[in-house]
Amino acid sequence: MFPRVILNGTMIKKSQQKKIISPCNYKERFFVLDTQELKYSECRPGKKPVIKGCIRLCSIKCVEIVFTDLPIPCSFKYPFQVFHDNHFLYIFAPDNDCRLRWVQALKEETKNNTLVEKYHPQFWMGGKWRCCHLSNKLAKGCHAYDPLGYASKKPLPGIPDAEAELHGALQKTVIALQNYTPLTNKELALQKDKVYTLVDTFQADWWKVQDEMGNTGLVPSTHVIENSGNNFERFEWYSKNMTREEAEDILIKEAKEGAFMVRNSRQTGVYTVSVFTKASSSNGEKHPGVKHYQIRQPKTGEPTFYLAEKYLFHSIPELIHYHQHNAAGLITRLRHPVTQAGGCSQAIAGLSQDEWEVDPEELDFGLEVGRGQFGLVLQGRWREKKVALKIIKQECMSNEEFKEEARIMMRLCHSKLVQLYGVCTQRSPMCLVLEFMDNGCLSDYLRNKKGALSQNAMLEMCLDVSEGMAYLEMSNFIHRDLAARNCLVSNEYVVKLSDFGMTRYVLDDQYTSSLCSKFPVKWSAPEVIRYCKFSSKSDIWSFGVLMWEVYTEGRIPYENRTNAEVVESLNAGMRLLKPKLAPESVYMLMEWCWKEKPVDRPSFALLLHELSSLSYL
Ligand code: ADP
Repeated sequence: MFPRVILNGTMIKKSQQKKIISPCNYKERFFVLDTQELKYSECRPGKKPVIKGCIRLCSIKCVEIVFTDLPIPCSFKYPFQVFHDNHFLYIFAPDNDCRLRWVQALKEETKNNTLVEKYHPQFWMGGKWRCCHLSNKLAKGCHAYDPLGYASKKPLPGIPDAEAELHGALQKTVIALQNYTPLTNKELALQKDKVYTLVDTFQADWWKVQDEMGNTGLVPSTHVIENSGNNFERFEWYSKNMTREEAEDILIKEAKEGAFMVRNSRQTGVYTVSVFTKASSSNGEKHPGVKHYQIRQPKTGEPTFYLAEKYLFHSIPELIHYHQHNAAGLITRLRHPVTQAGGCSQAIAGLSQDEWEVDPEELDFGLEVGRGQFGLVLQGRWREKKVALKIIKQECMSNEEFKEEARIMMRLCHSKLVQLYGVCTQRSPMCLVLEFMDNGCLSDYLRNKKGALSQNAMLEMCLDVSEGMAYLEMSNFIHRDLAARNCLVSNEYVVKLSDFGMTRYVLDDQYTSSLCSKFPVKWSAPEVIRYCKFSSKSDIWSFGVLMWEVYTEGRIPYENRTNAEVVESLNAGMRLLKPKLAPESVYMLMEWCWKEKPVDRPSFALLLHELSSLSYL
């Protein structure tokens, strides 16, 4: 009897890494499930598909969704696992419905096999299971496997009746804007871009949500956004019926760089972002003005949107959230949402003034621990905590802008980021209150430890930084000045990122223009040197240089060469040489970060994955 095709479609497959040294990669494949096999092939335009793998259904022991708290390093974000012949195949579907279809069909076809009793709901990564931390890949699972049910416990859609439809309409969902790791057992983990059911909003800051497994818990309301279709009324940036002329009037009156609103365009179903800039240019002259950008949908009816460049988002709130942090092709970042009645909203970061303003009375200033481009850094105490106090020289930073951003930076919270506790703006000069890092900056630390650092210690340093950077990347935050001098070392020798995003507030032209002496050319990607085009991919380039600093124990890159000579050799395709202490596998990762084209460089999520695989070899 011929096999009957049950499902087919394009998904991404992670290499199975059957041998410990086999590479980790993610490849698009065309999958076909029939009544006997699960096959996947490579499809190239104009060429015959080449079959790359085939799994007999009778060898499958478990098929299930994978839950993860980590960023997913490929463009399809919905993973599931197929455990067969003692190997784990991870497949990534483009959306949850597609994933459920495949898991359901595969389960149906394998339900009479000899199956596992228990399975691992999370990934095998870096030599251990992320769910139960066991380091034997074939260790028995930690969760009961249900061959008939689905991990999501999502009931199959029934025949719609009027009541069910009404219930569905009332059930609100939210989309996670970023990952969230719970700190108490009342809270729930969030995974960026995933949809959760909204259970309760009785507290403004903490909403109760339910995940697809049926677990409920509290999450910070700042981390999710209502998945409200085209109903944006709750967003302060939405002014539904505003005309182009009215928007211009209000924004010009506001006269704040980046003041913006989203309004209905004259064309039905289309939305326009209107944004004010002080530096709009016409006939080569700069003068203030309002720019209007239409939110575009590449395929009508499909839920993907973009604004200036082709950065696609699943919803308009996500798109706006991204451009609040990154200009990415717009004349300016969307800095201040302007409400219908005019006036900038104060609630951008979800924190009130009181929450980030530190009372100067609560601060004790101690000894100087360092000096940087913004001024002095002192040791200090704040609320029983040892803190670092960074005193900002007034002429060094544009205060108003910085205060805005400090609020956003305070929301960035990760174990590999130097935490900003607050700012003290009520005294002059203004100061930042930061987590204290006992072992100072990474570049000095490396030089002081010269000859005493183990391979493991160097790899751990790179891992720490890449973890912090993967979090920034996921939060759509660009560092812009990643280098060993901007990382600090804690008393437990954990390396953390500091000074992220700060260069935007430096008023010194020598530092901010790529042609000037203080610009960090030796850490900058070619597109930054040429056109100041910052992105997570330009951060990746700098990360490669930081890895080089680690493995040379703190040497200055291109030691005896001027910036101009460095630019010339980069243009000629030359790169930093392999440090003596760097294994070939680590140098390969550095070279990957230094690919000429940003798209050819890895994401931080992928790099983190690669580095953690190396740490177990
Ligand atoms: P800037 O950003 O103004 O250039 P840095 O952040 O480089 O300043 O700080 C200068 C020095 O101060 C660092 O090299 C480090 O020795 C010390 N320092 C900065 N922040 C901290 C901190 N959070 N904890 C301990 N020391 C710090």
